[in-house]
Amino acid sequence: MPERVRCFIGGKSVAGTGIEIPIIYPATEDVIGTLEEAAAAEVDAAVTAARDAFDHGPWPEMGIPRRKEVLLSMRSLLLENAEELAVLECLDTGVPIRTIRGRKMDRLTGNFELFAESLSMMAGQTYQQDRKFLTMVTHEPVGVAALIAPWNSPLSLATTKLAPCIAYGNTCVLKPSEHTPMALARMVEILHEAGLPDGVVNLVNGRGPVTGAALVEHPGVDLVSFTGGTETGRSVMSSAAGNLAPVALELGGKSANIITETADFEQALDGALLAIYSNNGQQCLAGSRILVQRSLADRFIERFVERARQIRLGDPMDPDCEMGPLAFREHFEKVLSYVDIARAEGAELLVGGKRAEGFEAGYYFEPTAVLAPSNGLRVCQEEIFGPFAAIQVYDSLEEAIAIANDTEFGLAAYVWSEDLHTITRATQALRAGTVWVNTPLVREVRAPFGGYKSSGVGRDGVRDCLDFFTEQKTTQIPVGKLSLARLGAGS
Ligand code: NAD
Repeated sequence: MPERVRCFIGGKSVAGTGIEIPIIYPATEDVIGTLEEAAAAEVDAAVTAARDAFDHGPWPEMGIPRRKEVLLSMRSLLLENAEELAVLECLDTGVPIRTIRGRKMDRLTGNFELFAESLSMMAGQTYQQDRKFLTMVTHEPVGVAALIAPWNSPLSLATTKLAPCIAYGNTCVLKPSEHTPMALARMVEILHEAGLPDGVVNLVNGRGPVTGAALVEHPGVDLVSFTGGTETGRSVMSSAAGNLAPVALELGGKSANIITETADFEQALDGALLAIYSNNGQQCLAGSRILVQRSLADRFIERFVERARQIRLGDPMDPDCEMGPLAFREHFEKVLSYVDIARAEGAELLVGGKRAEGFEAGYYFEPTAVLAPSNGLRVCQEEIFGPFAAIQVYDSLEEAIAIANDTEFGLAAYVWSEDLHTITRATQALRAGTVWVNTPLVREVRAPFGGYKSSGVGRDGVRDCLDFFTEQKTTQIPVGKLSLARLGAGS
């Protein structure tokens, strides 16, 4: 475990000259390291190193077979070091180690594999409708990208941006969340050990309004890819506008999980619990509004509450742990505050609602659910980003669809039914970037992923990343000699 987390700029570890931030393990509240915050000077050095690597380095000019080879060797070395990375991510986040060892590590290494392979299939276009010209469209790297990552799943979400960014020949400066810096700092070292040229990936650490803001506003940044909260996303977009830098934003959600009376009840119950309580309830795509049809509401709520009570909270390093602590103190307090907000607005507390018992330290919060009388309540409209479900009861499918769409967000939606027409009607009408039918939380990383409305701008996925991380250049060449009008040559 690193004692100090520093910047990594131009292939070297560099001290941060900002404040020192303690790194806290959320399961024990022990200080386990110190983060050296990057001040504006380090951010500038990182952007300069990325610019130099873009303008003069081998990376953007490298042939695809060689770049692909480097990406695949990064993948292999990440795989070899997967256990160390998983432990660091667990210490960073408090997410159960079994979740990290499984789907998070697959996603981390899968990102490098996917974008390495996508290079083999990358092709431009030609237009030949006008027989006098050959018109070619080629993809070229854009330049220096600022990549800003959240704390809820640092390795997989940062590399969802980083892998396509560098695969398509760009260089970058990565800023992890100040709450979760360790696994990504180690990952950046591993990328260099695997043969990544210096300056292609630079790392700066620190608080959002300090290090993050300095990065986004830096005039040397050509594009910005951000994952985080909706309010922060708005500020990132307006800062990037100063440089006219294109922005991709993956933001918050308040996704509806519609349980119909035609659902497979047991599957829907399992799915609803997973959708709100996995990853310690801290997921953008959580099914945080559970809409249950009236005919099965009593039975569903009773079983949901019974199961929520039995979720095994514990030490996230224990492979049997199902739910760990929330990621940091202020977040714990924010999630807790929604219990009083819910009560004050007339919601009924069904389960949880307080610090979990039996833990001397750590930000442990009980799996919580409230029954909300209306979708207008703050617990149904605001992203809580914790193990906190708002359950609502509805009568008809059309009512459920209207409730589901009555939100500023549009990241994901879930529907549980065995009836074809229910499924087709719901999937067509739900205003969300991803709709899951009879399953929670699957990610097909090749397909677009992103939000409608305030849940984001742009999409992850192979085609959209190619569009975002490359410039398209149109080149026209005449086929044969042209007879051009001869201005000034007399008639
Ligand atoms: P956040 O917005 O607080 O922070 C995200 C990142 O932005 C951090 O690295 C932070 O330091 C940085 N930041 C903060 N202020 C900044 C500023 N002014 N300029 C530049 N950078 C700044 O979000 P979070 O709390 O880390 O993550 C939780 C949020 O992320 C939730 O809203 C969640 O829904 C969202 N999220 C979305 C997705 C998605 O794919 N749509 C995935 C994961 C998380």
